[in-house]
Amino acid sequence: MTNPVSKWNYPTTVLFGVGRIKELPEALAASGIKNPLFVTDPGLAKLPVVASTLAILDAAKVPHGVFSDVKPNPVEANLTAGIEVFNKGGHDGVIAFGGGSALDLGKLIAFQAGQSRPVWDFEDIGDWWTRADADKIVPIVAVPTTAGTGSEVGRAGVITHEASHTKKVIFHPKMMPAIVIADPELTAGMPPFITAGTGMDALAHCLEAYCAPGYHPMADGIAVEGVRLVLENLPKAFRDGSDLIARANMMSAAAMGATAFQKGLGAIHSLSHPIGALYDTHHGMTNAVFMPYVLAFNREAIEARIERLAAYCGIEGGFDGFAAAILKLREELKVPHTLPGLIKDLDMDDARKGLIADMAIVDPTAGGNPLKLTRDGALKLLEGAITGTV
Ligand code: NAD
Repeated sequence: MTNPVSKWNYPTTVLFGVGRIKELPEALAASGIKNPLFVTDPGLAKLPVVASTLAILDAAKVPHGVFSDVKPNPVEANLTAGIEVFNKGGHDGVIAFGGGSALDLGKLIAFQAGQSRPVWDFEDIGDWWTRADADKIVPIVAVPTTAGTGSEVGRAGVITHEASHTKKVIFHPKMMPAIVIADPELTAGMPPFITAGTGMDALAHCLEAYCAPGYHPMADGIAVEGVRLVLENLPKAFRDGSDLIARANMMSAAAMGATAFQKGLGAIHSLSHPIGALYDTHHGMTNAVFMPYVLAFNREAIEARIERLAAYCGIEGGFDGFAAAILKLREELKVPHTLPGLIKDLDMDDARKGLIADMAIVDPTAGGNPLKLTRDGALKLLEGAITGTV
């Protein structure tokens, strides 16, 4: 197989293929952006991948500003600072460049810069998004450099509300990037830990979307192929970061996961969100820790579905075979089997466990779990992930 190259218009225009970052100036022009703010994170800002992308803008004489004060798991202070730079620079659009953190924050700057209400008024609850002044939202060109969150094809941005230690999803249809440049070569520099964590995030999106109840055959179809792509390509990308075919397939799986999860997510995310907000852990790696526990927990509701998925992926042994394949994949990727393996010196007393369970059951993703996620259920999953009992 040679490097795949294509143009997708679903769910938005995706210019996919190695080297397509060169088309950034044309993508900006097509989106009506003349003076973009380039939003990235401080780690990436130091890497050649950012310098070479900014050089493309310079060569095309595209004026631009750069903002990189973005934490992993971004917070409101990052958004406020970004909006200030955006307004001062008279920018008319955003290049969101990076992993989920920089993509989300870039999208949120484009959304929030012209709004008069606080960002929390636009949380993804009911029709709160209609409170926004849609005419003030500027266009976004998204350029992912990790292959996991799929934020590049999503209409939401995640931001941590520090006072309540909760991750809030801010939603508006116009937060969907006008154009995505998905260039697998940009992900080649990801270190193995980030490759594994982001790849497992893509898997968690596909798996939870596929298992979520409700009728959405289109999401189901996308999710099963996404699972297959991850199982076949993540170990390759982990072992050899320069394998651009594996990187390309992971980039597709990430976009597919985010496209599929409009159907719903589940308890992997419901537990991973409070853990991420309280302990600042990597989102995808936290999902990876919880995955086998949640799979076993939901067994009675998803067994037949997982049997079909296993057959599609060429895994023998039905549900048990699939569960074993997930454990083997985690081992290969050096994913910690337990929460204490992920969080150094973890010491959770009963009150802290209760708080996490309380946060998990009200997390917006809890409603998509195939079995109702009760407080007792969340506590059982948490205990399992602490002791390593699947
Ligand atoms: P990240 O964006 O936090 O990046 C992790 C680290 O990887 C950073 O240090 C970054 O500098 C580095 N990095 C990124 N690309 C690199 C590259 N090509 N080479 C070397 N280093 C690189 O990680 P992520 O997993 O992509 O994103 C996680 C964030 O996304 C969380 O904030 C999470 O809440 C959010 N998220 C959003 C959605 C959504 O739908 N919007 C979905 C899932 C997660």
